[in-house]
Amino acid sequence: MIEISLRWADRAACGTHDPDLFFPLAWETLSTAQAADVRSICAACAVRRPCLEWALATGEADGMWGGVTPRERRRMRAARNLRTPPEAPAPHALARQRTPERPASA
Ligand code: SF4
Repeated sequence: MIEISLRWADRAACGTHDPDLFFPLAWETLSTAQAADVRSICAACAVRRPCLEWALATGEADGMWGGVTPRERRRMRAARNLRTPPEAPAPHALARQRTPERPASA
């Protein structure tokens, strides 16, 4: 299993914005102005780099991550010769891993 941390997500600038901005129903219908708005949020985000690296490492297929669209990430992954790890956990699974463990019984 790959080791991936989502500690950076606590400082995500998108946390205070509408998620639909970052996960539009269809990228083809996203206006240039909307895309520019999202990219400007990501450009100012303190965790842009780890966000993008996470999406590249896990093969995240949807949404804007690190200011990069799915199509752009596919090109980046191809340029890096990356393969999607078959055991790559879904984001919701990672969030579950972040829940503190119950203390071991004595
Ligand atoms: S870079 Fe963009 S998508 Fe990634 S955490 Fe920051 S605001 Fe969110």
